[in-house]
Amino acid sequence: MTRSLYDLDARQLEALVAEAGEPPYRARQLAHWLDRRRQPDLRAMTNLPRSLRARLSERFAGAGLTLDRHQVGDDGWTHKFLFRLPGGDAVESVLMCYKRGGLRPPRSPQDPMVEDDWEGGPRGRATVCISSQAGCAMGCTFCATGQFGFTRHLSVGEIVEQVARVSTMLPELRPGPGAPDHLTNVVFMGMGEPFANQEATWGAAHRLHQGFGLSARAITISTVGLVPGIRRAAAEPLPVNLAVSIHAATDELRDRLVPVNRTWPIAVLLEAVEEYVAATRRRVSFEYALMAGVNDELEQAHGLGRLLAPLRVPGSGGHAAHVNLIPYNPTPGTGFAPPSKGAVRRFRDAVAAAGVPVSVRANRGVGIDAACGQLRTAAGRPGRRALPRAEPQGEAP
Ligand code: SAH
Ligand code: SF4
Repeated sequence: MTRSLYDLDARQLEALVAEAGEPPYRARQLAHWLDRRRQPDLRAMTNLPRSLRARLSERFAGAGLTLDRHQVGDDGWTHKFLFRLPGGDAVESVLMCYKRGGLRPPRSPQDPMVEDDWEGGPRGRATVCISSQAGCAMGCTFCATGQFGFTRHLSVGEIVEQVARVSTMLPELRPGPGAPDHLTNVVFMGMGEPFANQEATWGAAHRLHQGFGLSARAITISTVGLVPGIRRAAAEPLPVNLAVSIHAATDELRDRLVPVNRTWPIAVLLEAVEEYVAATRRRVSFEYALMAGVNDELEQAHGLGRLLAPLRVPGSGGHAAHVNLIPYNPTPGTGFAPPSKGAVRRFRDAVAAAGVPVSVRANRGVGIDAACGQLRTAAGRPGRRALPRAEPQGEAP
């Protein structure tokens, strides 16, 4: 099988170029095309000798992912992609654009209330949400990916290629002048549990930083709460953002939603987060998917406040926890439903009153199955393509 050029690291590119009898700077040119220009097509690499390109194309496919579906939602501000992997399985990536001049970030650590949807910031944002695994073995009961089960880990190349591919499409897809023309952020919040595939996750994060030139603070890794992964994050030199999917304030409820809680219950999870904060002095986001009648009651909000308010950055004493409330994106067949607007407000106010910074994430891509794992579920298992290929659906940008 031909492989993707993104599967080769800098040393492997050098070896390949040397094998072809070319000088080492050709490897740097190749890396520049892949990582900085985000262009895997050998035909486009016109500053490389034709003979080298011909030789490489015998063994490498350039791109390793095939765009299978593309859906457009939120008037062109959300785009969802389904990429086929070599071997037939598929993963999802989602592009979310945010207008510049959004609302404010928190004014100070003493200001626990963060206004909703401030993500745009002064320059706007274009965030790509990427997958780290095909499927997921964690089995969260409300999550389409979790219900689908695990197929395989993605390689470093397959993770970073999602960023490259979405990034090259962005100028065309840009919904308006208020949105940036380049990717500003990458979040590991697509399919899979990044810390169940740690080597590839960290390999990809380093390459996105060094190769693609993204600042570490523009990269966020979201985990369901794998304690060994959080410990490793505390020791990693790359200061990416950490998000922890908590979803409940009691073990009784969290056990039901997030089965991995039986291995690392809330107290153990928060102890690891505390160690992470002590080691890195960085804030941690806590994701909380609000589901009607399941975890949207005030009792959970008060409990969450009690758990997270004491989490402080050593030295400055500022809040180390920030709660992101995500109204549940309806997923057929799971039996879970989104909360009412009133329930979201009440929950948010209760968390804020407990002194924990909190924001509500705008619900993106509801009309295009944009919650984790939904598009792949709709598209069926490999070889059972139920939907048309790579055609924009829904509203045009
Ligand atoms: N496995 C990692 C990262 C991928 S999931 C994790 O669980 O953190 C990214 C986030 O989307 C998680 O917080 C997850 O709980 C949430 N999520 C999954 N399905 C959802 C849905 N239907 N509606 C809202 N959030 C959802
Ligand atoms: Fe896996 Fe995250 Fe979905 Fe849980 S929420 S099943 S960890 S992808």
